[in-house]
Amino acid sequence: MSAELELALERRIGKRSAAVIEKHLGITTVGELLNYFPRRYLSRGELTPISEVPRDEEVTLIARVVSSSTRAMRARRGSLTDVVITDDAGAATAKGGGSGARAGTLKISFFNGYRAKAELLPGRRAMFSGKVTMFGGTLGLTNPDFLLLDEDPDTPGLDPEKLAAMPIPVYPATAKLTSWSIQKVISTLLETVELGDLEDPLPADIAARENFLPVGEAYRLIHAPETQPDWQRARDRFRFQEALVLQSALARRRAQLASEEATARRPVPNGLLAAFDRQLPFTLTAGQAAVGKTLSGELSQDSPMNRLLQGEVGSGKTIVALRAMLQVVDSGGQAALLAPTEVLAAQHSESIRRTLGPLVRDGLLAGGDAAVGVDGVQVTLLTGSMPTAARKQAMLDAASGTAGIVIGTHALLSENVSFYDLGLIVVDEQHRFGVEQRDALRAKARKPPHLLVMTATPIPRTVAMTVFGDLETSVLDELPAGRAPISTHIVGLAENPAWAARIWSRSREEIDSGHQVYVVCPKIGTDDDGDFSPGEAEPSGAEVESDSAGRELASVTAVVEHLKEEPALAGVPLAPLHGRQDAVLKSETMASFTTNQVKLLVSTTVIEVGVDVHNATLMVILDADRFGISQLHQLRGRVGRGGLPGTCLLVTTLEPGHPSRRRLDAVAATTDGFELSQEDLKLRREGDILGASQSGGRSTLRLLRVLEHEDVIARAREDAQRIVGLDPQLLAHPVLAAAIDEYLNPEKEAFLERG
Ligand code: ADP
Ligand code: MG
Repeated sequence: MSAELELALERRIGKRSAAVIEKHLGITTVGELLNYFPRRYLSRGELTPISEVPRDEEVTLIARVVSSSTRAMRARRGSLTDVVITDDAGAATAKGGGSGARAGTLKISFFNGYRAKAELLPGRRAMFSGKVTMFGGTLGLTNPDFLLLDEDPDTPGLDPEKLAAMPIPVYPATAKLTSWSIQKVISTLLETVELGDLEDPLPADIAARENFLPVGEAYRLIHAPETQPDWQRARDRFRFQEALVLQSALARRRAQLASEEATARRPVPNGLLAAFDRQLPFTLTAGQAAVGKTLSGELSQDSPMNRLLQGEVGSGKTIVALRAMLQVVDSGGQAALLAPTEVLAAQHSESIRRTLGPLVRDGLLAGGDAAVGVDGVQVTLLTGSMPTAARKQAMLDAASGTAGIVIGTHALLSENVSFYDLGLIVVDEQHRFGVEQRDALRAKARKPPHLLVMTATPIPRTVAMTVFGDLETSVLDELPAGRAPISTHIVGLAENPAWAARIWSRSREEIDSGHQVYVVCPKIGTDDDGDFSPGEAEPSGAEVESDSAGRELASVTAVVEHLKEEPALAGVPLAPLHGRQDAVLKSETMASFTTNQVKLLVSTTVIEVGVDVHNATLMVILDADRFGISQLHQLRGRVGRGGLPGTCLLVTTLEPGHPSRRRLDAVAATTDGFELSQEDLKLRREGDILGASQSGGRSTLRLLRVLEHEDVIARAREDAQRIVGLDPQLLAHPVLAAAIDEYLNPEKEAFLERG
């Protein structure tokens, strides 16, 4: 990397500006500020459509003043200046929005706004920066910063036509630092840095092939473009650079992982796996058999397997993983299964014991079942909330090798858990586990263990290449026979309040015919925001826009109270389940539901993944609009599992046509997980794609959008593979190597270095 980029900012823009930038943006070097790219560009000659301005976040917009009036405040000293601004959309009926003249106006209030009173005169155009909020039915801004555009001193001598076409960069601003203040500092930086001397992280042949701007020129044009094509060319270049840096990092990691030495875990002729296959009550689907073969082959190699297994809910991933675990146990190693929640870990433990049947060895009692002719395997559950004695015993069994299969949550990552000979790690439901956590687990083995990551969230190809670029991918794309379809219906209480009662009589019918019902709520109690176990990332439901309407959302406690009084459910045994209950209560509740004593379970999303109760046929999701698409899809996958058709009711109080109801429409329209995940990505706002849970922090992608830029990602991936293939240490590409280090945050870098 160019030394210039690592230089402290104050050397180039002075102490005062540097201090401001550090305080508000946390940026301290020349390179960081050069890489602080505009989020978008406004056209100086055009007003910003006010209807498209997002609410409740810092925005920058251009508008024209319609009117201004100032009056003294009654209750205290000072004055209030009201300014109405417009985007002219109201007047321009040609746009045909039909929503009337109100659409394009916004009311601004300034307290003691002397400058506003003097400068914001009717007819003037200005750039405004602040939070747009809805107040009493009108859109408003309070005390925003503004910059008059008509007399901008920064552009003397430009002819008006050129000036009107000139894009204005809009930077991610804060309440205290406007976009144009940032722009000003960056223009100083552009003057003081020797842009021509910056070294290019892109290999010359690639830059030439793509016809890219030189890197210094690209920095100038992305920050100070004179025309739209200027910033577009610059952005294309940096976008490709971002893709190449990321793909090279992944390629380097793959190469490092592949060169590691693992213990080969070859199948043995008459072992547990063979006995297990003989007792399996069904035949494997073609997909399960094929993936099983791949896994078996890779486990038999002395380089570590690193594989992602994708498959719809219910596609039978667990059996596939279990067979891989048995192969490892057969060859003398241990396997660990990591689940995202304690409930799920306990469920896995139960269902794996059930599936293994006589092949489970318990404590010191039996050395396996004589009838099956092999030694059994000890299956050990190890979670953070287990009683100390039990946990100590479990840890002892893991460390001594007595436990062949260890099942747990992130508690398995804690430092005092060790294994005798950990050969395989299976991570269930990847979307809750970041790379760092995978690495922490890998560090548990003396030699790198084999790794199998399972996810039921279908992942589009480019996302897989980006987020899971260090893993090879297998897909289970058929469901085992006997899976019944799930029908999904939206229950819109806004248009049909009477349906509220119908939900519970419908539940009663289901229960009367011997089946069971899940009721899912977005909250636990009346004063909380959801249900996250410690260490878990926030489910996407929390990403959904905040409820400015302040409606009361369904909570587990309130719904349980309500249902106890509900005539349609009189006499029905029901129970609450949520993450704040203690582990014993949770597993007891789950057990009562599994054994059909509890007929109706009111829970949070703790049942989102993996929970497997065949007799449950109806799922009612209350305030379903509070959940994300993939979460809803996961949730409804809990019903229709036992050959009985499943029904999912998405209950919402939002009006039809509300943006959040689009997610429900999508979920109701298809059960194809891949289609849904594409839809999900489309509906989510930028930056959410990798999600906090994937990257261990905020999204690391800046210019790259995994769906839009599939071609860029694919090209960069090929380049990266070629570059790293020829030169794994990137010795010939020091600038690219440095860009990788710079790009990844320190933790991420640690995982790359460690490999
Ligand atoms: P996933 O983890 O992919 O959601 P599971 O492994 O939990 O799916 O499997 C769902 C259900 O289907 C389980 O009850 C399992 O026993 C059953 N199952 C798995 N494979 C088959 C198969 N080949 N034929 C019939 N049932 C199967
Ligand atoms: Mg599963």
